[in-house]
Amino acid sequence: MKFSYVNPTQIHFGQGQISTVATSIPKDKKVLVIYGGGSIKKNGVYDQVSAALAEHTWTEFSGVEANPTVETLDKAVIIAKEQAIDYILAVGGGSVIDGSKYVAAAAMYEGNGWDILIGKHQVTEAIAIGAILTLPATGSESNSGSVITQKSTQTKLPFMADAVQPKFAVLDPDSMKTLPERQLVNGLVDAWVHVCEQYLTTATGTMVQDGYAEVLLKNLLTLAEQYDARDNNEWRSNLMWTANQALNGLIGSGVTHDWATHMIGHELTALYHVDHARSLSIIQPSLLRNQIEAKRAKLEQLGKNVFGFTASADLAERTIVAIEAFYHDVKVPTQLTEHGDDKVAAIDTIIKQLEAHGMVALGESQAITLDVTRQILEDAVA
Ligand code: NAP
Ligand code: FE
Repeated sequence: MKFSYVNPTQIHFGQGQISTVATSIPKDKKVLVIYGGGSIKKNGVYDQVSAALAEHTWTEFSGVEANPTVETLDKAVIIAKEQAIDYILAVGGGSVIDGSKYVAAAAMYEGNGWDILIGKHQVTEAIAIGAILTLPATGSESNSGSVITQKSTQTKLPFMADAVQPKFAVLDPDSMKTLPERQLVNGLVDAWVHVCEQYLTTATGTMVQDGYAEVLLKNLLTLAEQYDARDNNEWRSNLMWTANQALNGLIGSGVTHDWATHMIGHELTALYHVDHARSLSIIQPSLLRNQIEAKRAKLEQLGKNVFGFTASADLAERTIVAIEAFYHDVKVPTQLTEHGDDKVAAIDTIIKQLEAHGMVALGESQAITLDVTRQILEDAVA
């Protein structure tokens, strides 16, 4: 085991914590508040932000869409440059926070912002960011990742940069009260897959990372079991904190990562507008069955330690069935059906896009070539 670990984002957790923004952002900063389609105007979060920024100079940019696009975000980049913005406050879910990370980096770069996504520009500086999370799912509020879409080419790509990690994040579970069911469930599933991408690999023997990953997975199962009791602060708080910890760098330190489910899922979203979490629940079971020999030991460990199964020759197979059952319980799809009727043509298109994006050898040991991905997709078809 070998790693360097720091998570520099200060977390302000709990009801009423949005008011801390007043002191988290220095008073001399010129702030750009970035948000989405308007949910924060309906649930009082916008009013709390306005009150917290009463003594700051600030302006706003709204309309960041789910799965944020460069086409929209580049308008915010112009504002940030023209108005010499030196602090960005992202208020929303993963899309708003990811989008704000792009704006923060692109505003400090003279070239085309998309260069950041295609690896032509390595981000070393960015405008400082703070985040107010309203949808627990992605962990974006305290990590250095961002996923951005180019609408014109139906391309969705990630970038990572320490410079865009938020300085602070406010996690007030009350802001989740207005979340539609669909988004609440998406959060459970995205967090589940984030843990799996860092845990379900060939690596074994990392007791802290494994044990912690297993606690997070057990929490998500429990929250799904207690779904009917979701309208209370304790349930919301536990989901918010679990989803945050699932992708804040800790369980991913010193272990092998996979991320193939995410990379294939991104193509489903870019092409067919499948919600991010639902792209993952469609791909993951099929991918796990395809990679079962490589991942058998860890699937067995998951079966024993998270689902409480007893040992058997088919423990890994039963564990994948249990993961599918979890997805069915929360009513997310596990089959590739959302993209229209012509499945063969759709799979061809997905493969072409993966190739164009250089996603030709995915997974923990780069064993998921385009042929393997094609098989995974074919096996995911209903
Ligand atoms: P999201 O796309 O940010 O939000 C989905 C929808 O939920 C939006 O329509 C939003 O409406 C609404 N919403 C958010 N908070 C709400 C609230 N409190 N009440 C009512 N509606 C609310 O969803 P997400 O799942 O958090 O983010 C998904 C994106 O993150 C994808 O692009 C995915 O690829 C990316 N991602 C990033 C990471 C990372 O580490 N950076 C990891 C995984 C995924 P409004 O627009 O009106 O607010
Ligand atoms: Fe995700």
